[in-house]
Amino acid sequence: MVAHMPQNSDIRENLIAVNKRIAEASEAVSLGPGDVTLVAISKTHPAAAAHVALEAGHRVFGENRIQEAEKKWPALKEEFPDARLHLVGGLQRNKVKAAVALFDAIQTIDRSKLARAVADEIDKSDRQLKCFIQVNTGEEAQKGGVLPEDADALIAECRDSLNLPVVGLMCIPPADEEPSLHFALLREIAKRNGLESLSMGMSGDFEMAIRFGATHVRVGTGIFGERPPFKPEGQA
Ligand SMILES: *Cc1c(COP(=O)(O)O)cnc(C)c1O
Repeated sequence: MVAHMPQNSDIRENLIAVNKRIAEASEAVSLGPGDVTLVAISKTHPAAAAHVALEAGHRVFGENRIQEAEKKWPALKEEFPDARLHLVGGLQRNKVKAAVALFDAIQTIDRSKLARAVADEIDKSDRQLKCFIQVNTGEEAQKGGVLPEDADALIAECRDSLNLPVVGLMCIPPADEEPSLHFALLREIAKRNGLESLSMGMSGDFEMAIRFGATHVRVGTGIFGERPPFKPEGQA
């Protein structure tokens, strides 16, 4: 199946187009170039696709699975030492060591025990990571993230007791709901806790997210094209 494999020139053009849209949306709310970070979500796409974006000068990427990232990213990071990798998928405690070793930011801190494990691992390693707390703004049972009503307490614990480098919040709004309500809620929780970074907005709604104060937008399909259908672990 090659139908869903974008050409290298497509990735380059998509990247330029997405950056342009980010710049325009930023300008409309009086933000300058560079105020919004584009996190290019390369999950499910081959290392070669990320390589095209790296060669085009892009540096910030996101993956949602540790094992997949471990296959793709050590070699890419060796070639491009200033590349930065964000974890945007759920993290289990038995993968914390690997995550801290490879990722530069973890966007999915959502519970006390995980926060503690990440804080311990950062202490043991000499890695400088940024952490975002994921908030389940839609209160969806199947989705990760701390519930909005529990967010203040988790943020306080991370900062005051664990000394975790929390820079902001992240959310993934429910697919079938108006995302702006979720962006506004995330912004509100960040504001009352004095957090600066907001990771929100994906291919379909990143301009709206920027209007609501996003500092990080996570765009996959808009850069790399449609994702190949999910294949269970171990299948080619
Ligand atoms: C896959 C993914 C994205 C990118 O989604 P697109 O709609 O392809 O842009 C963003 N955030 C998270 C957490 C993801 O898992």
